[in-house]
Amino acid sequence: MAVSAPGAAQHAAAEIVARLRAAGHQAYFVGGCVRDLLLGREPEDFDVATSATPDQVLTMFEKTFAVGAHFGVVLVCSPVPGDGELVTEVATFRSDGAYTDGRHPDAVRFSTSPEEDVKRRDFTINGMMLDPAVLARTHRPEDAVLDLVGGMQDLGAGLIRAIGEPGERFAEDKLRMLRGVRFAARFAFELEPATARAIQGLAPAVSQVSHERVRDELTRMLTEGRASRAFELLDATGLLVQVLPEVVKMKGVPQPPQYHPEGDVWVHTLLLLERLPAGCPMALAWAALLHDVGKPATFRIAPDRIRFDGHVEVGVRIAAEICRRLRFANHETEQILSLIANHMRFADAPKMKESTLKRFFRLAQFDQHLALHRLDCLASHGSLELYDFVRERFETLPQEQVRPHLLVTGKDLIEAGYRPGPQFTHMLATAEDAQLEGAVHTREQALALIRERWPAP
Ligand code: ATP
Ligand code: MG
Repeated sequence: MAVSAPGAAQHAAAEIVARLRAAGHQAYFVGGCVRDLLLGREPEDFDVATSATPDQVLTMFEKTFAVGAHFGVVLVCSPVPGDGELVTEVATFRSDGAYTDGRHPDAVRFSTSPEEDVKRRDFTINGMMLDPAVLARTHRPEDAVLDLVGGMQDLGAGLIRAIGEPGERFAEDKLRMLRGVRFAARFAFELEPATARAIQGLAPAVSQVSHERVRDELTRMLTEGRASRAFELLDATGLLVQVLPEVVKMKGVPQPPQYHPEGDVWVHTLLLLERLPAGCPMALAWAALLHDVGKPATFRIAPDRIRFDGHVEVGVRIAAEICRRLRFANHETEQILSLIANHMRFADAPKMKESTLKRFFRLAQFDQHLALHRLDCLASHGSLELYDFVRERFETLPQEQVRPHLLVTGKDLIEAGYRPGPQFTHMLATAEDAQLEGAVHTREQALALIRERWPAP
């Protein structure tokens, strides 16, 4: 397979490999970039593996950072003409010692053997090296690959297979279980059966992974495309009940068929996830996953139909607990919760007073609210009537009408003879509402309205 012209990052990494080799060391591209080149995908970054020690790497290049020198990792900066600089990770071949904490090797040993280096990596498709000099000559990554783990075959067969004995490899580092699911979903691959069985057996031990790393893996699954497949696999492997038990509770919770012909709350949620595009905002993706997380707890069979009274408020509380547990930043939590809290308000939009609608539009990142509502419709009844109505209004209302310069301020009220106090909030809101409704247009009109309701002292 021919690949498109290499970008600056590939050039910089190939240059580093060439310099290392000229100095008598072994050096290759390694890991994700090799996999992506073989798949004909643009790699996000290029990692280099070498027999040179970190000290040797540090002295060979002008600008370097010894970020993880004890792990053998050095960052090498390459200038890009007119475009700043590029950073390439250069890692010394190594073998990892025992993992007593289930997260990190106790010690690493540098090595001169590429074979030792790839054996400590996670999956066969991530365990290949590539010689950029051959690639530059033939433009065929498959000619340039050094495959010591059977990665080519698994890439062709669409399999995520642990390198070595899967149970041992997952016991060493539990995060690999989540990575396996993520790669399977991203590339629409299967988990190789022994790899899948090992994950099923060890799934409870995923609790040893830090909450931050679990969160980051889940966020990547939600925002790389094929999120529904990732969550189906998380469920099938038994990882989901460990990391997000609240989400598993959505399984088998029936919904009223007239609004939700697609099925239960879990099926509905997966249908939303299926439509999340690669690169979508993380708050939108998390809200898509959690927007109905309050339904299991509020399910009831009313005389007329199944109802979930209060599911939004309950859902916000559950989601807040999830965000706290997974250590989201405050601004991320806020946006996720706002999306969940407001997701049922679209139904009221056609009846909203003009001032209420404009305040609705003031929600931070309203485009994300719109996007969530659209997903919610498409994943259930399929009608976009309401969505089109709200989007139309949102897109055509000029910003100065949504957030107009206020006609009256607290200072104006004081000048008009009112004593500052709690009623100021109501007075100002009344004036603003009238302004948003288009009922008043000048400061005098707004003050006159206030005097009607609150006779001046
Ligand atoms: P992505 O496209 O998601 O970045 P990647 O394969 O490049 O995928 P990275 O997390 O960037 O993944 O890691 C680079 C390489 O390091 C992997 O390809 C793999 O060889 C190795 N690796 C990363 N994490 C682990 C781990 N937890 N256990 C073993 N090897 C790992
Ligand atoms: Mg990578």
